[in-house]
Amino acid sequence: MSEAIQTDVIVIGAGPCGLFCVFELGLLDMKCHLIDILDRPGGQCAELYPEKPIYDIPAWPIITGQELTDRLMEQIAPFAPQFHLQQMAEKIEKTDDGKWRLTTDTGTVLEATCIIIAAGGGSFVPKKPPIPGIEAYEEKSVHYAVRKMEKFRDQNLVIVGGGDSALDWTIALQPIAKHITLVHRRDQFRAHADSVNKMNTLRESGAIDFITGQVTQLHGDDGQLSKISIKQADKSMIELNCDHLLPFFGLTMKLGPVAEFGINLHENLVPVDTEKFETSTPGIFAVGDINTYPGKLKLILSGFHEAALMSRQAFKYCYPDARLKFEYTTSSTNLQNKLDVKEDAA
Ligand SMILES: Cc1cc2nc3c(=O)[nH]c(=O)nc-3n(C[C@H](O)[C@H](O)[C@H](O)COP(=O)(O)OP(=O)(O)OC[C@H]3O[C@@H](n4cnc5c(N)ncnc54)[C@H](O)[C@@H]3O)c2cc1C
Repeated sequence: MSEAIQTDVIVIGAGPCGLFCVFELGLLDMKCHLIDILDRPGGQCAELYPEKPIYDIPAWPIITGQELTDRLMEQIAPFAPQFHLQQMAEKIEKTDDGKWRLTTDTGTVLEATCIIIAAGGGSFVPKKPPIPGIEAYEEKSVHYAVRKMEKFRDQNLVIVGGGDSALDWTIALQPIAKHITLVHRRDQFRAHADSVNKMNTLRESGAIDFITGQVTQLHGDDGQLSKISIKQADKSMIELNCDHLLPFFGLTMKLGPVAEFGINLHENLVPVDTEKFETSTPGIFAVGDINTYPGKLKLILSGFHEAALMSRQAFKYCYPDARLKFEYTTSSTNLQNKLDVKEDAA
């Protein structure tokens, strides 16, 4: 087992509520490591509606999902949170010295006194294309995300999809792959205009191939692809040499491993009390869309409020003998020092 990273708090989920936990815990001198299966922070705001305006964030009459994420990242920067992205928080267990040990699907191990579950509607998981037997090739030669670009150097790649991920990875991998064929069921794309233009330039110059159609069959041995069959728009079939298939069909949300953590669940949500926001397991707290209590509203502002209250309880859990003062950021030099804003405030 790799050596465990030690921290005060592990936050599962880097959505808006997980990010704000870093701020509230940071004011109490508690350091956070965050884990998210996505490749960037922001949760639903960044993944599902980055350009949509939100109108009910206090003091922001209008702010997009991405802008809110960017502002939160700016706000928590003084606390130097560590992110473990593209990793699924998979297993938690208690250590002999009473800490929590969390292991991710890529083998990262973290130990902390408490865990905050800010897992929203669950982890984002890829939508899989309906190709018979695709599971046998997953991990080895079928990939729903690019974790290391080097893996694809000098390889024959087939990328499937018409959205941002499919086009962005076509553009990013083209210089290092041996050959790329982009397959989409129609010659129209849902990606940013700039990405569509770049992809079309590659296509017109012959740097990549484009096929209108659908992948129907995979051929290979022991999980390693050698060829794929494609049904083209005119219903004719072709076979292509293919070392790796990268289908990008979007993401869906599933509760995932949180269901296996051993905490009480109610209809796939985590019941908490509204004083501590603690789960049925001491030392494990839950904030944001993942939790439930009488009157719960699944709003970002609810998660922010929950993060503030939860943080004080997490502090008491970690340091039962320490004194916890209530302070305002406007008037506390102590808090301003932590935020590195002393001069501005003077
Ligand atoms: C289209 C749309 C519009 C919306 N508009 C508004 C609005 O106007 N105002 C408003 O207040 N709210 C709005 N919401 C709801 C708002 O987005 C959610 O309330 C908010 O995102 C919840 O934040 P969160 O941090 O709790 O969870 P999320 O944003 O869901 O983030 C949770 C994160 O946890 C990660 N995760 C989960 N499990 C694991 C695991 N095991 N390992 C690793 N990572 C994991 C997920 O990948 C995800 O990134 C809207 C939602 C949608 C879909």
